Amino acid sequence: MTLSELTAEMEALSEKSFRAKQCYEWMHGKLARGFSEMTNLSKDFREKCGNNYEYTVAEAADVRESKVDGTKKFLFRFADGNMVESVWMQYKHGNSVCISSQAGCRMGCKFCASTLDGLVRNLSPSEMLEQVYAITRLTGERVSNVVVMGTGEPLDNYDNLLRFIQLLSDENGLHISQRNITVSTCGLVPEMYRLADEGLQITLALSLHAATDEKRKSLMPIASRYSINELMKACDYYAKKTGRRISFEYSLIDGVNDTEEDAELLSALAKRRLCHVNLIPVNPIKERNFIRSDTKKIEAFKNKLEKNKINVTIRREMGRDIDGACGQLRRSHILMQGE
Ligand code: SAH
Repeated sequence: MTLSELTAEMEALSEKSFRAKQCYEWMHGKLARGFSEMTNLSKDFREKCGNNYEYTVAEAADVRESKVDGTKKFLFRFADGNMVESVWMQYKHGNSVCISSQAGCRMGCKFCASTLDGLVRNLSPSEMLEQVYAITRLTGERVSNVVVMGTGEPLDNYDNLLRFIQLLSDENGLHISQRNITVSTCGLVPEMYRLADEGLQITLALSLHAATDEKRKSLMPIASRYSINELMKACDYYAKKTGRRISFEYSLIDGVNDTEEDAELLSALAKRRLCHVNLIPVNPIKERNFIRSDTKKIEAFKNKLEKNKINVTIRREMGRDIDGACGQLRRSHILMQGE
């Protein structure tokens, strides 16, 4: 609940409205793990809350730390037993957390491990927040950036995502600037328009991965629903409404989308658009036989874009030694449970 919803709720419980502020601060400021920790509230009141409401906490079922760069990968378990992955990364400009928005995913991208078993369920706003809160508690460090790039398609869980962003950036909570929040989508066009109209300052990342419809369709089923042309119109609308530059994610797969022609076609899409291209060497997953492009090809691809005056970076890889592709930690636990 937002603070104003919580205030109305307290009134409905015949409680003083300042209780709402106290509770909200415990939950979203002090990151309490339950009502029992809210020690300046009366025991009666805490019990009443415990009887009336669910309190979302995540248990860390697995934690892996990279020996290379200190990146940590967490597998969190929620009350119903469902597990999701979240990653903590340290950069010079601050700590970044990558969260999941769904348990599983129904988008079916061919190179992605998160979608292999389909969608189990949406995560609630609290479950998305709790990934950031639990990591803050466990690391003891402040999180300055949040990217919704873990398992799931955030725009397929639209209302919960929006509430999550509201609460995460709320001044009475962790107050993470919307400019430091990135939402990545495989390209759900109607939701991209909706998001543009929300008046938010978040960054939108579009998983493009191919510059022609035909190639994109072979990698991402969603491309059969929305053409690149429709996607670009939605991106332009987003950039115009928000003034925010779009980030195009492009995972380089050997022999699939990494030729000079691919680079030219991508340049044509990115040209004269308020955008930035992020090249990602694909993470191979064992269920598929995609191979990442070698360093020389990646450099050549980048050079071609630069020559065409496109804003481009190669994503720095973090936690390579603990990683495997996105979704693999969760999947390995699910498979182990099934044995
Ligand atoms: N569903 C959203 C967000 C989750 S995926 C989306 O599609 O954007 C986050 C990013 O990781 C996306 O760009 C996705 O395409 C990419 N990704 C998934 N599997 C990958 C892999 N094996 N190697 C490299 N990038 C991958």
